[in-house]
Amino acid sequence: MRIGFGYDVHRLVEGRRLVLGGVDVPYEKGLHGHSDADVLLHALIDALIGAAGLGDIGKHFPPTDPAWKDASSLDLLARAGSLLREKGYTVGNIDSTIVCEAPKLLGHIPGMVRNISRVLGCGEERVNVKAKTEEGLGFTGSGDGISAYAVALIEGGRG
Ligand code: MG
Repeated sequence: MRIGFGYDVHRLVEGRRLVLGGVDVPYEKGLHGHSDADVLLHALIDALIGAAGLGDIGKHFPPTDPAWKDASSLDLLARAGSLLREKGYTVGNIDSTIVCEAPKLLGHIPGMVRNISRVLGCGEERVNVKAKTEEGLGFTGSGDGISAYAVALIEGGRG
């Protein structure tokens, strides 16, 4: 078994969709970034890549690469899953937290879990997503951005 940790943050701006865990969340602002800026999936991808000892998201999906412009981060997650499978790993379990003052995310979490488990080809019982506010403190509390943390346990592996 190996464990990986991921963290990401994106700025909230007007004129962008808010995509979290591959779910379009209705809100007056969205996350700024090169791809769809799905902060949860970026943290998760870093956790998975990190667990396998394969570097980080920027190494595999560089923001300078036009291929990832406005890309769905579900596609990036699928590629990260393929990388792990090539190395003989399967997903043990995933836990994650989105730090977000607004909007309320509770009702969207089942859709995020479904997306992640579908794309990684693992059971939904292996995927956990939580959301919490920052009690009004800091950049997440003021609504300037959204951050996410993820840990992933992976099993197997060759070599
Ligand atoms: Mg990111």
